Amino acid sequence: MKLDQDFHIHTHCSCDSADARIPHIVEAAKKLGYKHFGISDHLHTRFNLPDIEIARQEFLAYGPVEGFHFGIEITCATAWECEKIAKRDYASCFTCEVHGKKFQTMTPIDGVMYGGPAGGPLQVDITEEEIRRLGIEYLIGGVHKPNYTDQNPKDMIDDFFNQSCFLIRHRSIDILAHPWEMLAFWAGWSIVTKDPKDVRYDAFSMIPREYWDEMAKLLTENGKLAEINLSFKMPEEIFHLHMSSLAGWREKGVKFTFGSDLHRAPYSEEKLRRTEKVLTEYGFTEADFALPKFRK
Ligand SMILES: [Zn+2]
Ligand SMILES: [Zn+2]
Repeated sequence: MKLDQDFHIHTHCSCDSADARIPHIVEAAKKLGYKHFGISDHLHTRFNLPDIEIARQEFLAYGPVEGFHFGIEITCATAWECEKIAKRDYASCFTCEVHGKKFQTMTPIDGVMYGGPAGGPLQVDITEEEIRRLGIEYLIGGVHKPNYTDQNPKDMIDDFFNQSCFLIRHRSIDILAHPWEMLAFWAGWSIVTKDPKDVRYDAFSMIPREYWDEMAKLLTENGKLAEINLSFKMPEEIFHLHMSSLAGWREKGVKFTFGSDLHRAPYSEEKLRRTEKVLTEYGFTEADFALPKFRK
């Protein structure tokens, strides 16, 4: 199968040190024959709104290109952190103890990862008015961190499930970003130990089948798309499990978008061809991919 779209591309405006520039992205997309593609920098909370403003200016300055869209990748945030950030109450979030070690968040650039109440209310930190003003045509919603849940596989699976359902149901979200992707990282303590052995890949195999099924039901009922994003490395058997589950979603009628999650230029054609090969092996065809309903 051939992919003719990519809706998950970060530019150098993204808060995570991405470096791709719009001219390079457009050139690569044309060369690869994409019919639709879009830039989607991070908005974890409104702390990142200035990044999106700059990306929008650059997008407009480049000028219209057929099939080229402006989107964002928005994080499932907590009401607690959004309130802190709205109040500029950053200092109280800078340093805290995590798993017996001092953990320092230098800035709230990725949101406030620790210190909030476990399982509190969720939020995406942008309003419909801001979406219109910034000309955002589509929103990819992603789970990027816990809702202050204890970092063990069981609790983190429940947390990720809850956040994913929140995003799928949210009226502003069009696409669920990389389903379950960060689970292995947050189900363990590699964030403080820096030991790759503490990335709990085994958590993927503990996701209850009912959770996958419920998410498929919510996606189809709400007319939302799920993203296929193969940028995250996982052990082979876990990858197989993951791809089989996504193929299971397809059988239940879920439609997908493709996202390369490009952070570093140049855009790799070879990687894209590898992805197409994998998708073909798991029975995907062009018909399984759809377009978000672009806001105009
Ligand atoms: Zn993401
Ligand atoms: Zn991304």
